[in-house]
Amino acid sequence: MSKQVRVRFAPSPTGPLHIGGVRTALFNYLFAKKHNGTFILRIEDTDQNRYVEGAENYIVESLNWCQIPFDEGPGKNEKFGPYRQSERKHLYKEYADKLVKSGYAYYAFDTAEALDSHRKNHEEKGKTFIYNWHNRLKLDNSLLLSPEETQAKLDAGEDYVIRFKSPQDQTLHLTDIIRGNMTIDTNILDDKVLFKSDGMPTYHLANIVDDHLMEITHVIRGEEWLPSLALHYQLYDAFGWEAPEFAHLPLILKPTGKGKLSKRDGDKLGFPVFPLAYKDHKTNEVSRGYKEDGYFPEAVVNFLAFLGWNPGTEQEIFSLEELVQSFDLSRVNKAGARFDPDKIKWFNHYY
Ligand code: GLU
Repeated sequence: MSKQVRVRFAPSPTGPLHIGGVRTALFNYLFAKKHNGTFILRIEDTDQNRYVEGAENYIVESLNWCQIPFDEGPGKNEKFGPYRQSERKHLYKEYADKLVKSGYAYYAFDTAEALDSHRKNHEEKGKTFIYNWHNRLKLDNSLLLSPEETQAKLDAGEDYVIRFKSPQDQTLHLTDIIRGNMTIDTNILDDKVLFKSDGMPTYHLANIVDDHLMEITHVIRGEEWLPSLALHYQLYDAFGWEAPEFAHLPLILKPTGKGKLSKRDGDKLGFPVFPLAYKDHKTNEVSRGYKEDGYFPEAVVNFLAFLGWNPGTEQEIFSLEELVQSFDLSRVNKAGARFDPDKIKWFNHYY
């Protein structure tokens, strides 16, 4: 690998870190250490409606308990400024404005009612409403505002968002280390919101800007982000930045193999899905944690490493150091990984 490897785990503090998140953190950590790189923790807390007090502490404590230490993160080697996005707000507006200036983004003043009515009209005709520049103009030519008209609306205090002007009529070629090559017709993409009138960026903008500024070389994250890959490629292109490499990790499935593992599965079937016990501040309900249930961190880590990855040998028991040596993204599966509660017990008996 020619560049110094830098990877990040970028959770949103919207609740406790479940094992899917810990697995993402672990794979990032293993990849970083294998390549003598840096593992970063970045807290993506720009969605104020979903912010949960105490969630960041829970995330940090969970990583500490699992013995997956980060090299840079909130309060630790903050070499590229704060690692909490709410503390980097000013940056994102600057970058959104850069895109407006270069013609890759625009201020949009549509009301929620107008958007709803477009959506409904389309549904009635059996069509999906794709909100992009091209379709906007077909709907209403007056939406095309000059810079002066835009400024007048801003001065009048109208609510706005800044949207990406998704380039049309292209075939995008995407590459994922685990999934291989994919192509996407850009005309099916919406003009996603990048910046909201509450002064906060959306996930997409903040994530790309920070990955670039923090010199991230590989983005290793859950499969649920695969649908965002095309937009992220387009954003890198619009900024004129080189995109990192991407690896989307397979879903973790219920013990039956059908559907995504949820917190409720754990509660229902009697096994924890969180590293540490977690008290829901709204319901006061306490969910079980591996720590309190008497599991060893080494067993949990060993178990998680096998959720979607295999070493290609018969060996099952690995120390963290051995995992670092053996880990390779080319041995991560595309197919979902079935969560087997008996297997984690088996690992725990061993330790
Ligand atoms: N904040 C996102 C999350 O919570 C990060 C996704 C990514 O790694 O790009 O999953």
